[in-house]
Amino acid sequence: MSDQTVINPALDISAINASEFPVRELARITGKRSKHFQVIMCRSVLDEIHAHGQSITDAEICGVMVGNVYHDKYGPYLRIHASIRGDKAQGHAAQVTFTDETWTAINEKMDREYADARIVGWYHTHPNFGIFLSGMDLFIQDNFFNLPWQVAFVYDPIRGDEGMFVWRKGKSDREKFLIEEPDIEEARGREGHKWNVRKHNYDATSKPPRSMKGVLATAFLLFFMSFVGMYVYLYMNPTGLDPLVDKWKQWRAAPTTAPTTAPVVAPAPVQAKTKPGRK
Ligand SMILES: [Zn+2]
Repeated sequence: MSDQTVINPALDISAINASEFPVRELARITGKRSKHFQVIMCRSVLDEIHAHGQSITDAEICGVMVGNVYHDKYGPYLRIHASIRGDKAQGHAAQVTFTDETWTAINEKMDREYADARIVGWYHTHPNFGIFLSGMDLFIQDNFFNLPWQVAFVYDPIRGDEGMFVWRKGKSDREKFLIEEPDIEEARGREGHKWNVRKHNYDATSKPPRSMKGVLATAFLLFFMSFVGMYVYLYMNPTGLDPLVDKWKQWRAAPTTAPTTAPVVAPAPVQAKTKPGRK
């Protein structure tokens, strides 16, 4: 793995000129964005590569990764948002390759579905033999993915390990990558998502709905404030301005003339006295 022949030492992620690529802010990424070139893979792509790799574990499978290069305040980054399945290796011990037919199929799909994106690297599996780039893998990387922002991803579906490789001084170096979690719209379209989403549609650029906790807290605060407002209004309003307030003040004053401790039956004799024909 370390005996990689260096063909072009200038091939390095530090050679990527951020200003050549559009500005785009990252959201919902796992891990911390560092101040250098980083690879961001969308969760859906990772899931798809895992599914592809797990579907065949007695041979290597491969495919290409699709995305774009952008930059934010931390520098340039690669965002992988799709993948295209390639071939599986012919025979048990064989390694994957990209044949002319494979490239034709990949390029057709690129034109058809990802016209605004680029092939940003490739992935393949190492069923139960770990994460590294073999001599053949390095040959593929040197010949087909030799731009500074192009990467290689290796997945071992048996051991459940995986690794991303980027260009450093003409060598393929393993590098941590970040994962971009799906937004609510994307999550809704995926199987088994656990998002609780309202029925109406809103576009991906609008704010996601507030959490239920926040909504409840706001509702309680508004409810509480309405009582405070009512209290202030009723107590501070001078008599004669609002007939409703005056009425309330009269009603409120009433119980003080007859203490609540007095028996309810107290007025009864008065009433009895006034009744005609009892004397
Ligand atoms: Zn390999």
